[in-house]
Amino acid sequence: MSEPREDTGRPVRLLGFWGTPENRTLPDPAGLVDAAWEESERHWVSDYLDHGQVAGFSMGVSRCRLCACVNGSRDLTDGYYLWPEGLGHYVLDHGVRLPAEFVEHIGHRLQALEDLARDSSWWPRNAART
Ligand SMILES: [Zn+2]
Repeated sequence: MSEPREDTGRPVRLLGFWGTPENRTLPDPAGLVDAAWEESERHWVSDYLDHGQVAGFSMGVSRCRLCACVNGSRDLTDGYYLWPEGLGHYVLDHGVRLPAEFVEHIGHRLQALEDLARDSSWWPRNAART
């Protein structure tokens, strides 16, 4: 199992931030739409994205670049990657495909969570220690 990113001193990788007419160094989500992306995979990728931990707030809400809906104001992270909270909407509702390396990362993270060794003795010993 890999070490959490915060323990390595490496920065989290940003993804899902989009370019503007003034800043074209970031991608345009319209160019990443893959209508053939399997819906079941889009569901678990967007579900993962929707359940990151809050890492910060933007000023004002973001609007979806593809349908203009209000699409979040926070940044979310899993400790390895950091994305705007609306990224799951792009994936699920518009089929904006994310890099295969990131999708594989999600698969590994979810498997690691399922494989966690579980200690059921701590809770009964500590429940009353308030
Ligand atoms: Zn949209």
